[in-house]
Amino acid sequence: MKALHDKIRQEGIVVGSEILKVDSFLNHQLDVAFLDQVAQEFYARFKDRPIDKIVTVEVSGIAIAALVAQYFKVPVVFAKKLTSKTLDDAMYETLVHSFTKNIDYSIRLSKKYLKEGDRVLLIDDFLAKGQAALGLVRICRQAGAKVQGLGIVIEKGFQQGGALLREEGVHLVSLARILSMDESGIVFGEEDYV
Ligand code: 5GP
Repeated sequence: MKALHDKIRQEGIVVGSEILKVDSFLNHQLDVAFLDQVAQEFYARFKDRPIDKIVTVEVSGIAIAALVAQYFKVPVVFAKKLTSKTLDDAMYETLVHSFTKNIDYSIRLSKKYLKEGDRVLLIDDFLAKGQAALGLVRICRQAGAKVQGLGIVIEKGFQQGGALLREEGVHLVSLARILSMDESGIVFGEEDYV
């Protein structure tokens, strides 16, 4: 998505060679008008698939997921992140490893809000090593829900998340896919990485 590439080039801050900060529009301050364009692009890419629910993970996925959900006219359910583990039968739960924070955490989603047969579009802000997205795929499988696709705003294509998700048979659409980045600039690849 050309406008997204431009926005990342103008406002993104590259930290080292692996972390991109986009706090000015996506991860701290939200540029709602711009993110609404991003949401419309996701709608255009996925509108031919039947979708009953958008699923994301707190916190950074929620804003973009909510904007996308307006166009599909379906609810958003966000998995909650918890570091402590208490048993609750009424929740789907799986363990996720965060490479950015180097911790394991549980993500949980209530059985009330995801049912067998639900057709789910997964949405998240970033795809790096794929662990958060794979956690959401496992939660959907526990529920018997069908993953119709995964929409990612920014994929870091030099990390293995995209390959892992493809191996799982997930239809992946990344609106910006970064091949490499450093202080001198950002190189984008093909947008679709199915
Ligand atoms: P993964 O599980 O794919 O390794 O990482 C997914 C999550 O880590 C994303 O949802 C995002 O919150 C965070 N993340 C990973 N890499 C970056 C990055 O370069 N910049 C930002 N802002 N977040 C990242």
